[in-house]
Amino acid sequence: MRLNEPAFILAAIVALLATNRLPSFAEARHIMRQQGVSASSQQVGNRAAVRNSEQVRSARRVRNLMYHDGSLLPRPHLHAIYWGNPAKFPSDFVTGMNDFLQAYGGTGYTDIMTQYLTPRGFLSTLPSFEPKADSWEDTSEPAPDGALDAIGNEACSFAEHVGGGPDPNGLYVIMTSNFPAHVNFCAYHASWSCPAAPSITFPIAYLPNLNKVRGCYLGPRFTSPGVTNPYSDGVRSNANAAAHELSEVVTDPLFEGWFDNRGNEIGDKCNFRFRHPARLSDSFAWQIQELWSNNNRQCIQSE
Ligand SMILES: [Zn+2]
Repeated sequence: MRLNEPAFILAAIVALLATNRLPSFAEARHIMRQQGVSASSQQVGNRAAVRNSEQVRSARRVRNLMYHDGSLLPRPHLHAIYWGNPAKFPSDFVTGMNDFLQAYGGTGYTDIMTQYLTPRGFLSTLPSFEPKADSWEDTSEPAPDGALDAIGNEACSFAEHVGGGPDPNGLYVIMTSNFPAHVNFCAYHASWSCPAAPSITFPIAYLPNLNKVRGCYLGPRFTSPGVTNPYSDGVRSNANAAAHELSEVVTDPLFEGWFDNRGNEIGDKCNFRFRHPARLSDSFAWQIQELWSNNNRQCIQSE
């Protein structure tokens, strides 16, 4: 991994703010906290603020996302990597996650992000993903600890497998059959460069197997009335984490995009906050977390 110095410093600050611990070079990543692992910034919402009649003062209390003049990734080429023994994933995992990743873009949910893209001259059409054209099942033993170098290099292995080198417009989603021990995250995103192509930096998202993982697993939530979805709780829990990470990669792929003055990104500010299920383009209802809307000054479920 190689970043220029200002980028590294910023990424390090972001990681520090996100994790409240000193990051090493290998920890330039942005985690999705587990439920119950609190950060004061996670409680920031404007529900109390909007009740305050002092509109000007209350507005100041809302920490909107700010743009940091770096790149955005409104149309990522999605590369889905399933790493590990297939028997250790939920049986419907590859089918379910491929379906989710394809159904995610161009919906009322992803339309929330247009406010961060259109003012900067990007097309208003939100990400379209084609994971079926570009997914890979690597049945070798996955990294035991979810370490960034191992996860990043798995994207490089995939690029070698496909040929042609890493995709500069790619978003590599690495999903492992295991869940690392002793971590406080459900998922993370980061930037990475392959040793064989150090000039190409691209975003990656790491999604370990969240099936039955306390603080990340959402099974019981899906029993609410009106939610129809054919996939297992494990798939749906991973889809929620994917929604968080993908939205952050679109709006802050290399940690120079949109985040608030505490380093929280579009998903962090609404971590595990749900309203109605989001109906995606596969017509299924997915219980995926809300995203922060600067326009609404709060978390919302769809535009
Ligand atoms: Zn996050």
